Amino acid sequence: MSRARGPEARLLLTALGPERRKLTGVMLVLLVALALRLAMPAMLGWFVDAAIDGRELSLLTAIAAAYVAVALTAEVLSLVVTWGSVSVSWRAGNRLRERLARHALRLDMGWHARHSPGQLIERIDGDVEALALFFNNVLVHVVGNLLLLVGMLVVAFTISPWAGLLLVVTCALGATVLVKVRAAAVPAREAEREANAILYGDLEERLGGLEDLKANGAGAYAVHRLHTNSARTWRAARRASLLGDGSYAFAAITFAFGSVLTLGLGFVLVQREMVTVGQVLALFRYSEMLRQPLERIAEQMKEMQKALAGARRASTMLAEEPRIADPGSDRHLPAGALAVELDGVTFTYPGTDRPALSRTDLAIAPGTHVGVVGRTGSGKTTLGRLLLRLWDATDGHVRLGGVDVRDLSLAELRARVAVVTQDVELFRASTRDNLTLFGARPATDEELVAILRRVGLGSWLDHQSDGLDTPIEGGGLSAGEAQLLAVARAFLADPGLVILDEASSRLDPITEAALSHAVAELLEGRTALVIAHRLATLDRVDEIVVVENGHVAEHGSRAALAQDPASRYAALLATAGSLPIEEALETFADDEGLGA
Ligand code: ATP
Ligand code: MG
Repeated sequence: MSRARGPEARLLLTALGPERRKLTGVMLVLLVALALRLAMPAMLGWFVDAAIDGRELSLLTAIAAAYVAVALTAEVLSLVVTWGSVSVSWRAGNRLRERLARHALRLDMGWHARHSPGQLIERIDGDVEALALFFNNVLVHVVGNLLLLVGMLVVAFTISPWAGLLLVVTCALGATVLVKVRAAAVPAREAEREANAILYGDLEERLGGLEDLKANGAGAYAVHRLHTNSARTWRAARRASLLGDGSYAFAAITFAFGSVLTLGLGFVLVQREMVTVGQVLALFRYSEMLRQPLERIAEQMKEMQKALAGARRASTMLAEEPRIADPGSDRHLPAGALAVELDGVTFTYPGTDRPALSRTDLAIAPGTHVGVVGRTGSGKTTLGRLLLRLWDATDGHVRLGGVDVRDLSLAELRARVAVVTQDVELFRASTRDNLTLFGARPATDEELVAILRRVGLGSWLDHQSDGLDTPIEGGGLSAGEAQLLAVARAFLADPGLVILDEASSRLDPITEAALSHAVAELLEGRTALVIAHRLATLDRVDEIVVVENGHVAEHGSRAALAQDPASRYAALLATAGSLPIEEALETFADDEGLGA
């Protein structure tokens, strides 16, 4: 158990480290506030004893005035402590949030495929919020109340060892009740948070796919899932609450007994003249005050359980190493167009048993433009993913510009390889930020406008009210416009290898023709893989690669293949006029007996 706590403790310490000085200040103020609160019952006792002894009014007035001053000061200091601890915990929490978000971005596609966006949000936001509360609560309430408790017991012992003993026993009994029952609640809390993460993860996914769900009549299924998930969350929450709050009631009864016994003991001690009436009053106040810090600690334990569960998950996530290891080397790719080489590459997606690519060899000279064709599921997109190192080949080598991609820093690799896919991801931000990725790729406004005009978004830009500053709302662009924007974005980076994966599939034929003209110009001096289902898109490429069932079935110059009637590509061309490429390939495969 204590070994499992290790990484969590380290996580909390690293998050709080930079707040050390502020934290020390807060603790000092807290100590003064506690001392004042401790003095108050004693002052009450002096006042009562002075009154019983018939002391002069001026002394009584002085004690009363001092009491009021102490009470006010204690309140003000408590405010200062609250302000300080909230600010410390927010800053520590935000630091942790940042660290988790950074780490999540480093993790590989496999990890992200296993975790829904909702789970990620719950981890980075929900869990950290619990942790920030924990910093705040532990620092102020738990430590503060523990000190107050110890202080009260010490004072009680100095008044009367018997009364001190009674309070210690009360405390011990109350605390045992609280701790025993609450320990059982940790796993219940954890289960509750996990159920919550699943609920929100699912909800997010369903909302994201709302259009498809509606169109396909899957609404009832989605609602049923929501119902099951909500029911599970409710059951988990109820169990956690019952276990957590039950202990609270038990402890309250224990402390009530303690107070009654203190009064009884006080009565006996006064009769034997071992203590004064004022001291009994002070002891009674302490016995009542005893209850509050322990209850506060108990209350905080609920939050602490949440926070510990959160810390556990956060440290698990931080311990997760990306499978795509970044060597962080300073090896650089040659300038200009990059050679591409696949050497016996086999790749199987985790959780599948059929390789998406098997023992694939491919060599592309720098500056060559290659059209990649093949049936749906043949492995074209996978090829691009391996080049960008979104996944690592299970076997064999992928080389760019003669360098194994595993030997390149991910930053270098991704700065030199640009990909435009069918699924364009745009951000709710200005056109400029969408193009420069929030300034990650610095470019002047002139360059941005020029590239937009070049890909055919000139008149679109002219109609934007604020030009490059116009915000792009989610879904505010047509699918084709979004694709053009992605093409513009890819070329801003000045890549040495460009992969266009169905990048023009959502464009009308005229726009596509215009774009392919612009792209041809932009591709000058770069290596390109143009993955396309429509052969017309490939009119300008130098070479053709036909992918079949996860391997390269044909690779040659486009002109030569087109003229060789025995080639797969020629067969495709012959049928392409009338058939989409898949059917053409099918026809070809049937004719030649080379089918899947
Ligand atoms: P398309 O023309 O439809 O885009 P493709 O040639 O690009 O097809 P890939 O996306 O490379 O095909 O997929 C190759 C194989 O790998 C397919 O069998 C597919 O089901 C599988 N596959 C693709 N992505 C994943 C993934 N993330 N996890 C598991 N299997 C995958
Ligand atoms: Mg694909």
